[in-house]
Amino acid sequence: MTHTHKPLVVITGASSGIGLATAKLLSSRGHALLLLSRRLAPMQQLQLPNSLALAVDVTDRAAVLAAVAEAETRFGPVDAIINNAGVMLLGNIATQDPEQWDRMLDVNVGGLLNGIHAVASGMVERRQGTIINVSSVAGRKAFPNHVAYVGTKFAVTGLSENLREELAPSNVRVITIEPGAVDTELLSHTTDAAIKAGYNDWKQEMGGVLTAETIAETIGFAYGQPQSVCIREIVVCATRQQQ
Ligand code: NDP
Repeated sequence: MTHTHKPLVVITGASSGIGLATAKLLSSRGHALLLLSRRLAPMQQLQLPNSLALAVDVTDRAAVLAAVAEAETRFGPVDAIINNAGVMLLGNIATQDPEQWDRMLDVNVGGLLNGIHAVASGMVERRQGTIINVSSVAGRKAFPNHVAYVGTKFAVTGLSENLREELAPSNVRVITIEPGAVDTELLSHTTDAAIKAGYNDWKQEMGGVLTAETIAETIGFAYGQPQSVCIREIVVCATRQQQ
């Protein structure tokens, strides 16, 4: 089958922020896209050519597998997945509702593993592919009120390094992206008003944070290297972000 587009890229969490900006960028470079998140409308409104947007919760393993299978039928094998869907519910561990860390672990770690599961065997078989995991600078160091979130992001950074070693002999790349503060909807889901206000003050003190487009460009740069080149890890922060 001949395709008029570049190979299929799966992006999770494509309805806002970094995922949405990355969808626009990779579409402008000609890739077919599978866009996944729970909210369908923002992904459909992008009206990107050669794209399939599906309302999928990444914690639903069967739904992730079915979505990838449907996209591959339409656009050919997955060349890359950007495991970007995530939630950040900041809280003091002594007072935080445990449901919040359950959710972060389920989405940030479980959902990311589901994305890997959906593509890894095909990539190994084809000896070609790229898995890009969006961790965080909070996957390398601690921040106030971040205990559970930091736990999920250290998990992403750690499992990505292990995955890279495991898939390297099969010529499959694993790339970890570790942004500092980025202006997106991420903070809006934190329920503690004082923590939220403190975080916003911190963003202002550093004279503003990165844009989602900057992270999309970073992802695009790493993915755009030849298959024989693996940029293993990128930490990217606003210059004035000290921590
Ligand atoms: P946004 O909140 O703007 O985007 C998060 C995306 O994840 C949304 O598209 C959301 O879609 C999706 N998502 C959340 N839960 C689920 C779920 N259960 N199933 C499917 N999709 C889900 O934040 P960002 O763009 O900032 O976040 C993207 C990634 O970047 C996250 O992993 C985050 O941890 C990471 N990051 C962000 C930083 C920042 O400062 N913004 C810094 C470092 C890392 P929907 O709600 O429609 O499901």
